[in-house]
Amino acid sequence: MASPGVLAADWTWMGDRFEAGIAVAVGEDGRIQAVGGERDLGPAARLSGRALLPGLVSAHSHAFQRGLRGRGESFPAQAGSFWTWREAMYELAARLGANEIESLCRQAFGEMRRAGITAVGEFHYLHHGPGDLDWSLDLRLLAAARQAGIRLVLLEAYYRTGSIGEPLGPAQRRFESPGPGAFWQQMDRLAGCLDPSTQSLGAAVHSIRAASLEDLAEIHSEARRRGLPVHMHVEEQRREIDEALARYGRRPMALILDALGGAEGLTAVHCTHTAPDDLDRFLDQGGTLCVCPLTEANLGDGLPDLPPAAAAGGWLCLGSDSNARISMLEEMRWLEYGQRLKRESRGVLADARGEVAASLLAAATTGGARALGLDAGRIAPGHWADFVVIDLAAPALAGWEPASLAAALVFGCGEEVIAATCVGGVWSDQAEPARDDR
Ligand SMILES: [Zn+2]
Repeated sequence: MASPGVLAADWTWMGDRFEAGIAVAVGEDGRIQAVGGERDLGPAARLSGRALLPGLVSAHSHAFQRGLRGRGESFPAQAGSFWTWREAMYELAARLGANEIESLCRQAFGEMRRAGITAVGEFHYLHHGPGDLDWSLDLRLLAAARQAGIRLVLLEAYYRTGSIGEPLGPAQRRFESPGPGAFWQQMDRLAGCLDPSTQSLGAAVHSIRAASLEDLAEIHSEARRRGLPVHMHVEEQRREIDEALARYGRRPMALILDALGGAEGLTAVHCTHTAPDDLDRFLDQGGTLCVCPLTEANLGDGLPDLPPAAAAGGWLCLGSDSNARISMLEEMRWLEYGQRLKRESRGVLADARGEVAASLLAAATTGGARALGLDAGRIAPGHWADFVVIDLAAPALAGWEPASLAAALVFGCGEEVIAATCVGGVWSDQAEPARDDR
């Protein structure tokens, strides 16, 4: 149950800066009713020595891959790649039973909450029990998210071909979508199984390797008709580009934009090797780009070529992806650090004021919410009461000042500064704020 009432932290993130003296009224429906001065909104529960942020959003996750953590990190042949990692992931997906999968997902989602992630876009393709097209694991995922108390956008993934024009391999059977008709039937079934206060649906097409252009266009247009976001892996690996060139004579992003007639409502995940012209076209046409810095580093993918105004445009978001490490603070700083290393300069993703931390926080809040079609990521009336509470007395923040607090947090801190999280007005175990009426 939501805890309605008014709360006030010492400092509140208002989208571009921390402000003092802000009170937030939360309604019984789990949404923010009002944001204003402490005197205007009545007695507040004080969050003393704390700062309040909108909850962080991981726009791209595969929760079950949490089971690979620490595995596949030794290299007897002296080298590995995304493709050797994929073999290990397939082996995990084939081996796990439904209970183990639910348990791994619950573990990942719980860890996300402790990392300040209050909403996750779960790009979910592990649908079936062994030997059956039963979609049973979709319900396990919903259950795991409910138990962990995280807001979930289930990005149900369409996966029909093993690579371009090829049948599924044995290891991919549990991912199968037999066709658009069966996919939408399952989406209809899932719509009746959601907890409407914390769960919603989106559509995903795994990648250009997993669907024909015709199926991609059909899924996208029906999703748009239903008002659902659409997500897709795009150009994470050069091999995907080579295969598309061999088969279609064009690169994946160009093919996708032509097949869909635009990018409205579409989030492209990775775009590590996307040509700058194609990326510009994608963004001009309304697309959102999701970068997953820790996973892309872990897999040796490479670094995307982000346009200079990338973060300021509001169409950049972040994902914890393989969940090899779950830390949105690290994802944020590595989004900027990757570009620094690539360009040999600093402040690459700074906003118009020159502030990098604000841009990175935008990617981790409003950018993710936009990609997932959520009223979240902002402390504003009508949005979900999803919050992260920061302990301003944490050693990692010693020496902070109001003007440097956001940057100290993003560049200098880990999860130990996170005192509590709140999803839809429901607080994590750590602490419901003590009422200290003034
Ligand atoms: Zn992914």
